[in-house]
Amino acid sequence: MDINKNIDVFFNKIDCPICKSQIQTHYKTQDIPYFGEVIILTLICQNCGYKKNDLFSVYEKEPKKYILKVNEEKDLKIKVVRSGACTIKIPEFGTVIEPGVESEGYITNIEGILLRINDILLGLEKNPQDDETLSKIEELKRELEKAKDGKLAFTLILEDPTGNSAIILEDTSKLKIEKL
Ligand SMILES: [Zn+2]
Repeated sequence: MDINKNIDVFFNKIDCPICKSQIQTHYKTQDIPYFGEVIILTLICQNCGYKKNDLFSVYEKEPKKYILKVNEEKDLKIKVVRSGACTIKIPEFGTVIEPGVESEGYITNIEGILLRINDILLGLEKNPQDDETLSKIEELKRELEKAKDGKLAFTLILEDPTGNSAIILEDTSKLKIEKL
């Protein structure tokens, strides 16, 4: 397989789920070391701005659970492939990112996952249910800040029934991979 092969393809058009105008679906492939080739799908509606990203492995994968203890700053650079079907859990923060209808697939690193959780918290902070919720959000943001500086160890868990998600490490001795 040619590692540098990146194919950009425009496929069939679909109806936008928001405004019903036609959207072009855009696919491209990317080869990810220790995981294989993935197809990255992007939908952008030129009319209303609706956007969706997802990704799929070219090869059939088994349902898998990945568990990684993140305890060094350099661990934050570890690559993560997340499909729209993947649940991300960080038990120490009581954080769960569930796959939903609008759930996105993306390739990032562990720091990127923390930034996404931070973005979710910023959204929740604007409209807290009550003072207790707000103080919990504030506390979680402080913990995330420490984690982003590599000063707080935590466990990252990925659960994907489609097997299209992974924590990418050459040396898998630190990584626990289980059947889901
Ligand atoms: Zn639209």
